[in-house]
Amino acid sequence: MKVGILGGGQLGRMLLQAGANYPVETYCMESRADCPASSLCQHFVAGDITNADQVFEFGKNLDAVTIEIESVSTEGLRRLEAHGVKVFPSSAALDIIKNKITQKEFYASFSIPTSEFVVTHSLTDVKANGHLFPAVHKAATGGYDGRGVQILNNVSEAEKAFESDAVLERKVNIKKELAVIVAKSQSGDTVLYPPSEMIFDPVLNLLQFQLSPATLPEKVLWKAEAIALAVVKNLNSAGIFAVELFLDQEDGVWVNETAPRVHNSGHHTIEGNYSSQFDMLWRVMLGLPLGNTDKVMDSALVNLIGQSTETIDENSVQLRELSKIGNAFVHLYGKKESRPGRKMGHVTILSNDRSELVHQANRVRNIWENKL
Ligand code: ADP
Repeated sequence: MKVGILGGGQLGRMLLQAGANYPVETYCMESRADCPASSLCQHFVAGDITNADQVFEFGKNLDAVTIEIESVSTEGLRRLEAHGVKVFPSSAALDIIKNKITQKEFYASFSIPTSEFVVTHSLTDVKANGHLFPAVHKAATGGYDGRGVQILNNVSEAEKAFESDAVLERKVNIKKELAVIVAKSQSGDTVLYPPSEMIFDPVLNLLQFQLSPATLPEKVLWKAEAIALAVVKNLNSAGIFAVELFLDQEDGVWVNETAPRVHNSGHHTIEGNYSSQFDMLWRVMLGLPLGNTDKVMDSALVNLIGQSTETIDENSVQLRELSKIGNAFVHLYGKKESRPGRKMGHVTILSNDRSELVHQANRVRNIWENKL
């Protein structure tokens, strides 16, 4: 079977690593030939994934295509679907998710709990909705990893709001941020991974690490699972989906957003669960039975964020020190350049002892940030 991946970043790379276990011929399209996935796919095509013609040309002779980023041309995917190529997720599901306005309207139309919102096009619209403050203003398109998101604590801060199409939503009083990965097969079967919880630095409000499974009261777990499943069922598409949720101080659960693809919040599944999110997507695409989402062990996931322009090689102190941790699995994405803030890799730590997970996660961060 010939399968194409649109986008060649670390997600494509890890998908290709898992694909090496299956009888597939792999193709990948990305603009830069030195991207993380290019050396792992069998056929690399340099091209623009946002261009409909190039997406169609790339996929027209393949059996299936998938995406690793939402910016892929949905027009190109629609043409591939019409041509008989299987597309994961469907172009229709991607269209809903690509734009934060249609995404929020989708949740509302299926009565899926999400924080109250209005659509805004100008500063005047923002100021006219004082009842939603404190609020979060999100650009309809172009946002990624927190860019395109503004916290507006009161109407006087509205001056800095986006003037373009956006969503203004009530700020949730967050107790925990959760993520649930859901897979849906071509025949409509679904499986869920145990939810993960994000642990933030209370001072800097930066993600420190992620713990899986999240520690949750049973009723909250059920709510989170029911909501994640409702999102995926109503998107009406096979594939793998990461549903990001907020748990509020009153134990209410709200959808923040959904990614219709493999996702950072599922990286721990490579070692932490029987079937990883990447393995699962291959099963979906190949029409195999869905895998086992049970955890093998509890896990912590630490992103290795670029600190400077210095790249890591086998002589780097960081790699040597990380390699000494017996229950840690180090993943470097092979990016040719490092930049502050860029995701350069991740480390998964396995242990059924929570305090050991937290201890090692902090140790990994300190090693990476060179504060040994
Ligand atoms: P992106 O798509 O860029 O990742 P998100 O929509 O996930 O952006 O928002 C980034 C972060 O902003 C979230 O992880 C959360 O901490 C905060 N945030 C977003 N929406 C809300 C909200 N309605 N209430 C409170 N915090 C929010």
